[in-house]
Amino acid sequence: MGGTVKIKCPNCGLFNTNADYCSNCGTLLSYKKRRELAHKEEQQKQKARKDAEKKASPSWIETGKKSKYLIVRLGAQFFNGIVIAVMAIGAFFAWLFTFLAA
Ligand SMILES: [Zn+2]
Repeated sequence: MGGTVKIKCPNCGLFNTNADYCSNCGTLLSYKKRRELAHKEEQQKQKARKDAEKKASPSWIETGKKSKYLIVRLGAQFFNGIVIAVMAIGAFFAWLFTFLAA
């Protein structure tokens, strides 16, 4: 090609020459760039999802239990105990409220 590339802005309809962004409204015009951007956004979304999963599940406790370091294993056991204790206390209070409500 080597000539001018005219792209009609999908947002405002202005014809832009050799531009990635619309000179009138700033809308991204380049199909290639738009794909790159969408790809990047998808990657960021996946990363965010993975981070959220990591925070939500106490899988690090399971990982810690299998650690080759004794201190990490003990720490994992300790935190695992806390998680169980918190759940037990929660269950106790749930039972208590049921008892009081009856
Ligand atoms: Zn525009």
